[in-house]
Amino acid sequence: MSAQHPAGLASESVRRIAPYTPGKPVSELARELGLTDIVKLASNENPLGASPASLAAMQAALAESGLYPDGSGHALKQALAARHGLSPAQLTLGNGSNDVLVLLAEGFLTPGTEAVYSQYCFAVYPLAVQATGARAVVVPALPVAHAKMPLGHDLEAMLAAITPATRLVFIANPNNPTGTWVEAAAIEAFIARVPATALVVLDEAYFEYAVEAGCGDGLAWLARYPNLVVVRTFSKAYGLAALRVGFAASHPEVADVLNRIRQPFNVNSIALEGARAALADPRHVARSVALVAQERPRLARELAVRGLTTLPSAGNFLLANIGSAARAAALNDHLLRRGLIVRPVGNYGLADYLRITVGLVGENSRLLEGVDAWLGSERR
Ligand SMILES: *Cc1c(COP(=O)(O)O)cnc(C)c1O
Repeated sequence: MSAQHPAGLASESVRRIAPYTPGKPVSELARELGLTDIVKLASNENPLGASPASLAAMQAALAESGLYPDGSGHALKQALAARHGLSPAQLTLGNGSNDVLVLLAEGFLTPGTEAVYSQYCFAVYPLAVQATGARAVVVPALPVAHAKMPLGHDLEAMLAAITPATRLVFIANPNNPTGTWVEAAAIEAFIARVPATALVVLDEAYFEYAVEAGCGDGLAWLARYPNLVVVRTFSKAYGLAALRVGFAASHPEVADVLNRIRQPFNVNSIALEGARAALADPRHVARSVALVAQERPRLARELAVRGLTTLPSAGNFLLANIGSAARAAALNDHLLRRGLIVRPVGNYGLADYLRITVGLVGENSRLLEGVDAWLGSERR
């Protein structure tokens, strides 16, 4: 270790972390290509944005910008508890659900313990686990030829991977980037079989979109399973990704651990007020869910007509098989030049695929036109 290489002062496991690759921001593409009319279908954001009620609440909250937020998030916790039939003592608020996922890792993992997650899981789990020095046990996903849920979580294999050293088992239902899911009865049976020595972290970031697919409601199982932690977010169906608000619902003792290690003011006042107003405006969420229910099957069908098959999805996005890594890169490039941002997923080990967020009707049509133009150029 020398002064010339200060990174050597960080732990080995931290130095091995591959940083998170976010979707390309609209402003970046605008800067790079001088484009103005850009559509971003890369980060599973809600194309309807925040609800007007939420925007009004946030504008009002700006006036108090000189004051620290309510560090306990009292009002939002009360509203969430009332909505879901929980006690506020079961809730932990986070700067996005990402924050809560990191708190779970920090609170329950140490070198010598293990965390179990699936191949092709949400990228934040490996990041959070690796930073603690705990051992990551990556369970192979279901095969791509699986009849029902290609590349989905293999719950039997995940159960078999749990040892006495396992502290956390991460499951996203539905999963990002695959969109695949596990039905309610199967998830609950899984939770029931996980030993009390490990917490099940059930990430329901796409809960609102996934109701229709039969994913179930993890919050309803909390009373039965003290080792269950359900993670939700305001970033997706609620349209508040920029604000960074999410929460964990758990046994009060788990919430107590998370509350000890979180930053005292981890959720800002604007976000607290925006989330509270969003929760009180279920019609906006219903509109967002209806848009996806209508457009996701259309997009899947239209892509299939063009030879691009998609995985089954219970989220507001589709994982499309482009046929090869070279084709996926070429299509991504072509779309970028037309002002269309989708998500390459090579960092997930899925280089043949692109992840496409379901947008507004016109945005999805523009994407399909982009695909058509690329297919035309491929044939020439
Ligand atoms: C988008 C997403 C989240 C939410 O992240 P935030 O930090 O709340 O914005 C969590 N889990 C999964 C699987 C996601 O796709």
